[in-house]
Amino acid sequence: MPEVVDTCSLASPASVCQTKHLHLRCSIDFTRRVLSGTAALTIQSQEDNLRSLVRNQEIVIEISFETSPKSSALQWLTPEQTSGKEHPYLFSQCQAIHCRAILPCQDTPSVKLTYSAEVSVPKELVALMSAIRDGEAPDPEDPNRKIYRFSQKVPIPCYLIALVVGALESRQIGPRTLVWSEKEQVEKSAYEFSETESMLKIAEDLGGPYIWGQYDLLVLPPSFPYGGMENPCLTFVTPTLLAGDKSLSNVIAHEISHSWTGNLVTNKTWDHFWLNEGHTVYLERHICGRLFGEKFRHFHALGGWGELQNSIKTFGETHPFTKLVVDLTNTDPDVAYSSVPYEKGFALLFYLEQLLGGPGNYDMTLTNACISLSQRWITAKDDDLNSFSSADLKDFSSHQVNEFLAQMLQNAPLPLGHIKRMQEVYNFNAINNSEIRFRDLAAFDKSHDQAIRTYKEHKASMHPVTAMLVGKDLKVD
Ligand SMILES: [Zn+2]
Repeated sequence: MPEVVDTCSLASPASVCQTKHLHLRCSIDFTRRVLSGTAALTIQSQEDNLRSLVRNQEIVIEISFETSPKSSALQWLTPEQTSGKEHPYLFSQCQAIHCRAILPCQDTPSVKLTYSAEVSVPKELVALMSAIRDGEAPDPEDPNRKIYRFSQKVPIPCYLIALVVGALESRQIGPRTLVWSEKEQVEKSAYEFSETESMLKIAEDLGGPYIWGQYDLLVLPPSFPYGGMENPCLTFVTPTLLAGDKSLSNVIAHEISHSWTGNLVTNKTWDHFWLNEGHTVYLERHICGRLFGEKFRHFHALGGWGELQNSIKTFGETHPFTKLVVDLTNTDPDVAYSSVPYEKGFALLFYLEQLLGGPGNYDMTLTNACISLSQRWITAKDDDLNSFSSADLKDFSSHQVNEFLAQMLQNAPLPLGHIKRMQEVYNFNAINNSEIRFRDLAAFDKSHDQAIRTYKEHKASMHPVTAMLVGKDLKVD
């Protein structure tokens, strides 16, 4: 079989040499906004004559390094940008190709390594990594600092190396789960994610034993650029999941699923990102189906089909990024990012399931209720507006409210009188669920200008990847 080339990596390919282990020693400097230290890389030759090495021979190469204050993998927050307003905060996001912006590494998902780390931070702060916590001790070189130790014994691609430093607290919410955040969010987070252990158990039933030991959750400050990131042993999630009613818990089911699909079995190159995400969405929806019923799984499958259609409409039908397997030669994976690998990947697996004897066509019950309510609004004359009442949504889950708004968005904007009436009877402004609020906002043309103004005002303090992606969405440079 010809070798798969990772066009997103500048490192030697896995066929030449493979990093087996990283030992990281580093210190976090909030004043200069740099992370500096040494990376000791255990490298194994895959060739018979690699310089002076024979096949399978290992050497340890230790490299001193310091990050740039502009590293695309790190976001440094001032105390004002945190909930507590007292201490600075740092978090990393390495997927897809940003690990190289932290430390010297063979930055390709085709190579997997174990890692251990010693991280020195100001003593009033806590450091966490995508690994098992392995103790803490005063820094012998500086009485104002502390060293945290970590160990990840399961081989991972380096995009799963993750670090966070802040004034963090934790609550135990399950036998193998702590939820971490600033103290202002910790109670709310413990409530919101209380279903985690039951989801883990279902996932184990579907995927086999959970081999990572701990499954902790970290709720980040609002500038975290994604809904969730499946960093091993410590899933990172956005605080916008704190809806107050557990209605966005499918994101946790998604990140839990990555413990098998993505983190254990990994795409070899980013061209095949759908292997990570399509299988994970498939597993996520099975978990939610077991928890909330098969109808619910089909409802989300149909919602995903709608998301896929939106993405394809946005790119244009023949755009190369709408393919299941893309060609990322000379392309930043962040630019190609969309719902396509998630939902087209899921659709393929769902189709195969039906071919091979799954439960049949989509169960439309929950979706039909959303469609018929949206049709009532679309066809309503001014005289009909009194027929709507808060009872219309009485039997709707928040997922259905979201789908109802998605249906409305696919049609021409409603007249202003209709929108006013909708707010009067449904009071969407009072809803905390961020997905619903987002759809609600997107429904109004006038919010577009406001979005651009807000973007320009806050761009400088946004995560670099977010700034790039939001700019792309709003079509401003
Ligand atoms: Zn995912």
